[in-house]
Amino acid sequence: MTSAQYDLVVVGAGIQGAGIAQAASAQGYRVLLLEKNNIAAGTSSRSSKLIHGGLRYLESAQFSLVRECLNERARLLELAPELVKLKPFYFPVYQQSSRWPWQLFCGLTLYKILGRFKKNVAFKTVSKEKWQTLDGLNLKGLKAVYQYWDAQTDDKALTQAVVASALELGTTLHLPATFLHAKVTSNEVKIEYHYQGQSHHCTAATLVNAAGPWCNEVIKKVLPPSPQLQIDLVQGTHILVKGKIGDHIFYLESPSDQRPVFVMPWGEYIMIGTTETPFKGRADDVAPQTQEKTYLLEVLSYYFPQFRSASTARIDSAFAGLRVLPTESGSLHNRTRDTLIHVDDPKEPRILTVYGGKLTTYRLTAERVIKRLKKHLPVRDWKAHVTEIKLKTNVSSDASLF
Ligand SMILES: Cc1cc2nc3c(=O)[nH]c(=O)nc-3n(C[C@H](O)[C@H](O)[C@H](O)COP(=O)(O)OP(=O)(O)OC[C@H]3O[C@@H](n4cnc5c(N)ncnc54)[C@H](O)[C@@H]3O)c2cc1C
Repeated sequence: MTSAQYDLVVVGAGIQGAGIAQAASAQGYRVLLLEKNNIAAGTSSRSSKLIHGGLRYLESAQFSLVRECLNERARLLELAPELVKLKPFYFPVYQQSSRWPWQLFCGLTLYKILGRFKKNVAFKTVSKEKWQTLDGLNLKGLKAVYQYWDAQTDDKALTQAVVASALELGTTLHLPATFLHAKVTSNEVKIEYHYQGQSHHCTAATLVNAAGPWCNEVIKKVLPPSPQLQIDLVQGTHILVKGKIGDHIFYLESPSDQRPVFVMPWGEYIMIGTTETPFKGRADDVAPQTQEKTYLLEVLSYYFPQFRSASTARIDSAFAGLRVLPTESGSLHNRTRDTLIHVDDPKEPRILTVYGGKLTTYRLTAERVIKRLKKHLPVRDWKAHVTEIKLKTNVSSDASLF
């Protein structure tokens, strides 16, 4: 049994919790990071591994999200050159595609404007003579191919690097440590968690719930009861198939329902994803489903005829993660991908929950979280600015895969 005092206790060492711990420690705050499983054990190792501007969010008019994503992408390319790498993306348009080539041209032009015409937002039309060089891409009915730039990362290695930076700045990490309860009093939050086989207590000025798909489970353990957002969990699966395509990433449309699916190189494998399957179970139990694997394999074999005879036996492995989306009517595909910050008391927040969001914008989310909690945080001396801290690769990570 221990009792310590912190400025912030952060629940969850996914990318959001890691980013918040790093930014808060850089500002001199005393931070405890609790993780029940392992760093990036949740969604942050099961994403599409893209640091992207979010070209597709233009269709749902999420312009500010695209602008933010493009700015953050530029920053991460600078701060983590070993972990975030710019890649050529190819977008083929077929006779049967849901978009016309001119629509894509307009979208990419808007992307370029939102990215302030920087080098990394340039795009071009790939001439017909070069289509043969696109890794065996199906040419039947092909009308145009556009090439633009976005970035790929190793999400787990990136999260580990952010945690390592937080630790260097003074964050205390307890792992595996499960958050159990919190009680908000007039001047602090009393917290209980399980660590090294026993119950521990600490107090904090503020509590940040960055538990990803588990966030409403965590909020239920806070007294007095804190408001929570109604959310839907949506499963996204990726498959890994042995084989090579070049160093290109393809942005494709599923032939069965026109959803976007990426086909990407990943070491010795081709990674294909993702799906959007409503999820009702316990977040701990998420696992790829057979019909999702078949769906993704169909996309691969439709666009790359060399895989036409491939059966699910060709799938080497698969993984699934959970998106946290606010409950609304309408298609899952068009719901906001913005990070939603929810507090117990809008005027004097002590308990803050991070809902959803992107790997790409973790740094911005961290900045917003700390700003929102400032009222209850003591005055401390800054140690560093996260916009200037380079992120280092852990030698044991998978970063060499991309
Ligand atoms: C299929 C899919 C693809 C995606 N692709 C991209 C992409 O290409 N690019 C992009 O920018 N974004 C992408 N995203 C979004 C991005 O991956 C997520 O927004 C991000 O990883 C969420 O991070 P998080 O820290 O909020 O949650 P998580 O990574 O899930 O972390 C939550 C952590 O909290 C811990 N925890 C839970 N309960 C407790 C407790 N009681 N005590 C202690 N610890 C606890 C868990 O163990 C876990 O480690 C994708 C999301 C999905 C689902």
